[in-house]
Amino acid sequence: MERRKNSDSGYRRNAPVRRSDIDPEVYRKIMERRQAIDPEVRRIIMEKRKKARRKKVIIRCTILALILVLIITGIVFLIKALASGGERENTSSKTVWKPDKTAQTEEQTFVEERGIVFIDAGHGGEDPGAEEEGRYEKDDNLLIALAVKKELAKLGLKAVMSREEDVSVDREARGKMANEAGAMLMLSIHRNQASVGEGYEIWVPADGDPASRTLAENILKELDHTGISLNRGVKTGTLTDPTKDYPENEVPNMPSCLLEFGFITSVQDNVDLALHRKQYAEAIARAMSVTYGQLYVGE
Ligand SMILES: [Zn+2]
Repeated sequence: MERRKNSDSGYRRNAPVRRSDIDPEVYRKIMERRQAIDPEVRRIIMEKRKKARRKKVIIRCTILALILVLIITGIVFLIKALASGGERENTSSKTVWKPDKTAQTEEQTFVEERGIVFIDAGHGGEDPGAEEEGRYEKDDNLLIALAVKKELAKLGLKAVMSREEDVSVDREARGKMANEAGAMLMLSIHRNQASVGEGYEIWVPADGDPASRTLAENILKELDHTGISLNRGVKTGTLTDPTKDYPENEVPNMPSCLLEFGFITSVQDNVDLALHRKQYAEAIARAMSVTYGQLYVGE
């Protein structure tokens, strides 16, 4: 106390001054001076001080409000950044294939490609093939061929097609297309026609190529498992000459066979095709896949 009483230099500049710190004599003089001030002047001074205090409060409030706004903006930006970061992660994950278990479609199924096979949808365009009451063989062949292609893809076999729409394709050209595609197996799809008869048969080259026979036998075995009207077996050459080949079996330089997929003239075979096309396509694709494994992978 004493230390501070006579020495103003001892105070820190902004240290609060308590009344007890002031010399009573000095305090009395201050009070006297205050009372001596004109009341009007005093009122003005007090007003000014009030105004100054209000100004200070307003400034402080404004600064606080600004800080608050900055903090809120920061938080909002942070949340947005986190959210968009998550989205970016999702987007990048879409570029890599992932199985979508909620909506699994054939297009989403990814299988490593094992090899190329050739699927020939018999006839087409100007050549309708067999015909029965306005039903054309070329249309049935194409439907089956496209279904087989789809199933082959699931098994890692890429199917190159002789046609994927109703267009004319020369019979010899089909075998050439298979050779050019570098196909490892070729299957030509047709339908039979007769006044009486039903069932499935496969024609293989006249030279009795064992690989072609394996392919044919595997296809008939799988179709048998799926359920067909009749297995008419593997046949060699052509209907009219067992020493000659259908162009689809003669031109290709890989194991090949020509499937007569039931009779277009058989109600039973047509009903089966309508009801079980997918299952038949699966069976054929499975047989081709098994044959591919047996012939080229040593499975
Ligand atoms: Zn035909």
